Amino acid sequence: MKKDDTILLDHGSGGRASHELVTRVFLPEFKNALLESLEDSAVFEVGGTRLAFSTDTYTVDPIFFPGGDIGSLAVHGTVNDVTMRGAEPLYLSVGFIIEEGFPMTDLERIIKSMKAAAEAAGVQIIAGDTKVVDRGSADKIFINTSGVGVVKPDVNISGKNAQVGDAVIVSGTVGDHGVTILSMREGLSFEAPIQSDSAPLNGLASEMMAASDNIHAMRDPTRGGLATTLNEIALQSNVGIELEENRIPLRQGVEGACELLGLDPLYLANEGKLITFVAPEDADKVLACMKAHRYGRDAAVIGTVVADNPGRVFMKTGIGGTRILDMLAGEQLPRIC
Ligand code: MG
Repeated sequence: MKKDDTILLDHGSGGRASHELVTRVFLPEFKNALLESLEDSAVFEVGGTRLAFSTDTYTVDPIFFPGGDIGSLAVHGTVNDVTMRGAEPLYLSVGFIIEEGFPMTDLERIIKSMKAAAEAAGVQIIAGDTKVVDRGSADKIFINTSGVGVVKPDVNISGKNAQVGDAVIVSGTVGDHGVTILSMREGLSFEAPIQSDSAPLNGLASEMMAASDNIHAMRDPTRGGLATTLNEIALQSNVGIELEENRIPLRQGVEGACELLGLDPLYLANEGKLITFVAPEDADKVLACMKAHRYGRDAAVIGTVVADNPGRVFMKTGIGGTRILDMLAGEQLPRIC
């Protein structure tokens, strides 16, 4: 990076540019083993207890959308990042940056929504902060949430642990959140109403872990979508991933909207989905348990971990070809979450 380089929207995409920003600018200075693992949350031991800790900031525009709002999204996002290491999330902190002139009724609506989301996820908000900036210095409201959870002693779930032979399972349809936000911004409406999938995944994950001791990795495919998240795991676990396009669950409305808008649903954000890597002998068991849960009804095995092409993701397309699925390059949608 050169001295006169500036931050671009792309650096916040969650895709390749974000990855490069983190590895070239943040990691060399903040260098430590916990951060360098680049997981959804850091897992460390304090006084004999293993804790998971994560933080995330929400800038979504519009702040209210079908299926949620910036407040519920901020609770779900951090609950899910803590959950993806196999932790039980317990406590959140919340920080607000609010633009002067923001309507009090909108703030109250967001706070009520956060309260309901926290109650549904079984977590408590135990610390907070509020800053107000001049009109025009921020757009409406930004929210940061951090979260802490407890990891049971025998649990070892990490993006580094995918094994050759593992089944790759997604918990439901992809692209719902991204398409919902974009449609609202474009003022589009569709015959089949689309809504964000924003949801807490800790209940689903704990049932999966109760069903199997052979869950190797979990990650929520948020910014950058399914394709970027699978690339991260392929790199971190040094394995190849082979997907079958026909098996990837897609809501009809989302498929249609993506065709209309020229978007690839595999790169669109999800806010209530997880991808898991499970030993083949337990794949059926885990899939059945996911399908029985309200947030895993449309779960499907979408691929397999292979030894060939470590660090790469390949997809057998619907028409019988094979396509390399790379990380998201370029920002499809700024302020998606
Ligand atoms: Mg995540």
